[in-house]
Amino acid sequence: MNKPIQAVSTPTTYTCGNCGSEINIVSTTQASANLDVCSNCHPAYTGIESKQASGSKVDSFNNRYKTKG
Ligand SMILES: [Zn+2]
Repeated sequence: MNKPIQAVSTPTTYTCGNCGSEINIVSTTQASANLDVCSNCHPAYTGIESKQASGSKVDSFNNRYKTKG
């Protein structure tokens, strides 16, 4: 039995979990996948900074070991 030499390409739909937009590409591995962020909603493309939910690790460290300024 001869195996096909070339990989089989199938249309693939990537769905953004942040804004819900769909991106159609051709893939050889899977029919659909999910993205965390895409170019429609990423701050680097939109220019809108997202608000952090909580302080960073550095902030909590500085709060714990406050020095006299
Ligand atoms: Zn998106």
